[in-house]
Amino acid sequence: MIKSTVIIFLLVSCQVLLCAVHKTPGNKLLLENLRPNIISRSEWGARRPSSVRNLAEDPAPFVVIHHSDSDSCITQAICQARVRNFQNHHMNNKNWEDIGYNFLVGEDGNIYEGRGWGKHGAHSKPYNSKSIGICMIGNFNNHNPNAAAVKAVRDLIEYGVSLGKIQENYTLLGHRQTTQTTCPGDSLYQLIQTWPHWSSN
Ligand SMILES: [Zn+2]
Repeated sequence: MIKSTVIIFLLVSCQVLLCAVHKTPGNKLLLENLRPNIISRSEWGARRPSSVRNLAEDPAPFVVIHHSDSDSCITQAICQARVRNFQNHHMNNKNWEDIGYNFLVGEDGNIYEGRGWGKHGAHSKPYNSKSIGICMIGNFNNHNPNAAAVKAVRDLIEYGVSLGKIQENYTLLGHRQTTQTTCPGDSLYQLIQTWPHWSSN
């Protein structure tokens, strides 16, 4: 009797252990495969934020796309310099606590961490407490961002959903849908209307 109980116990333990072994690395591997290249704040030389607030709604129900209305960049060195300039402008001139966006994307194909996941932004009132704001570096009034930048943004959104930082049924918006602005530029605004989850309202 004791012997069979021990055997059953061992069998159940093995099962649990096997499940754990199979499940955890599997999910981690999947997430790792989805993880796009994200240049961290320390890598691009970010200043410390003066204060940090979390999103009121996390995972975020909205993703808002911006352009920087500046020159674009096709190397990491130049994109990083642009991102540092944006942060300085936002903190020194606009008096914000940090760079406005949650993430930025360059035509070098890299994603640059802004405020990051789950953080209250300063990019599109009144959505700052419930959205992930992504800025594509460049002026996209008359042309679209290159394929590398478009892929990076779409991968980032997909990754955010799989991380549980963006709601699965999120709504994608262009900045001009939230306030009076030409952002994210006429071309880019046309383009995002072809992406999944874009909504006219
Ligand atoms: Zn904008």
